[in-house]
Formats: sequence, C-alpha cells, structure tokens
Amino acid sequence: MAPPTARSLLASHAAVRAAASARRGRLAGDHHPPQVAALRRGDWVKLICGASFEDAADVRNLSLVYTLAGVDCIDCAADASVVGAVNEGIDVAASIVPAVQRPWVMVSVNDDCRDLHFRKAEFDPEDCPPDCSKPCEKVCPADAILLERVMIEEEHSQSDPSCGKLEGGVITERCYGCGRCLSVCPYDRIKATSLA
Ligand code: SF4
Ligand code: SF4
Repeated sequence: MAPPTARSLLASHAAVRAAASARRGRLAGDHHPPQVAALRRGDWVKLICGASFEDAADVRNLSLVYTLAGVDCIDCAADASVVGAVNEGIDVAASIVPAVQRPWVMVSVNDDCRDLHFRKAEFDPEDCPPDCSKPCEKVCPADAILLERVMIEEEHSQSDPSCGKLEGGVITERCYGCGRCLSVCPYDRIKATSLA
C-alpha cells in the first residue's frame, strides 16, 4: 500500500474513525481484548506503513493519527528507528487521549528475496539524459524521487534542456518498492534492489 497522501489520509482517517465508533457500539458485552474482538467480528483494521518504508517522521505521524482514529494494528518495517517511531506516535496519541486503544505493532520481516514488498528503486542520475522529462519523479506516490537539473561549468545555456546534468535520485528511506518508476523510465535506467 502506498504511504497515504494528506488527502487520502484525511479520507482514511474519517473512515477508520467511523468504523471505530460503530465498533464501540457493538462491543457492549464482548469481554475479549478489543483487537481480538475485532478479529472475531471481522472488522479488524490495520494501518500498513509499508514493509520497506523507513521515513521515521512520517511513520510517527501516521501512527499518532491512526491510533487516535481507533486502528487495531500498525504494520511497519523491521527497522529499530521505524518501530521506535510507531511507538512514539502511539505514546503521543495516548498522552492526548488517555483512554485511547493502543494498537498492536506488527513488524514485517522478509524471508523470501522475491517478495516485492522488500525492495528499493535505485539509479544514478548522472546516467540520465539532462533533458529527460523525469516521469519517474512524477509517478512516484511516495515523493521518493527528487531530481534537479544543474549546469556544468563550461556549459552556459540554461535554456537548453539538453545541457547540464541531473542531480538527486531516490530518497531511499521513502521508497517502498512499488515499482511504478521502473516501468515509466524511457531509458531503462532504474533498477530494483532486494532488501533480502
Ligand atoms: S519504487 Fe519508485 S515509484 Fe515506487 S516508491 Fe520507490 S521510488 Fe517511488
Ligand atoms: S525517467 Fe529514467 S532517465 Fe528520466 S530522470 Fe527518471 S530515471 Fe532518469
């Protein structure tokens, strides 16, 4: 699942809050832990931060918001700083609303190098034509590609898009391996690297 944008986050937040509210109404008389009761009823809700998504600040904020919304579980990458960010988000939510349900924390681990959830895109921007329209940057749903055309000293035509070179590339901690950029590169410059 793609890390949510602000717009989709708000929509998801509202949906999760509505589900949590409806669930509380059905919980009367059910003595199981809330997450277990939700599993038994079939309305258990999990936030998937992404098995390869390692932007701790975003993960912390998502965890905070979704905990307040009543999510049952938060799934994240197997990275100490990411797990710490999830717990920090939950702790902050609990400090805001002490009665909030603390979600389970689920860590995604990789036991299969072919699992596409555990990969990162990579390329060397110096191999890219400077006049490339950068479809990779536009298609990335996680804003994990940032490219800028810079001029080389002996070249002077800023207005000529074929001059200069591209700098930047994949912001590794934000890439969650969705693969969209791989298929749009017209020069086949992007490769996927397994985290196995
Ligand atoms: S695989 Fe490509 S499109 Fe997908 S998150 Fe990574 S950089 Fe972005
Ligand atoms: S689409 Fe391909 S060639 Fe163009 S900037 Fe992206 S990686 Fe480089």
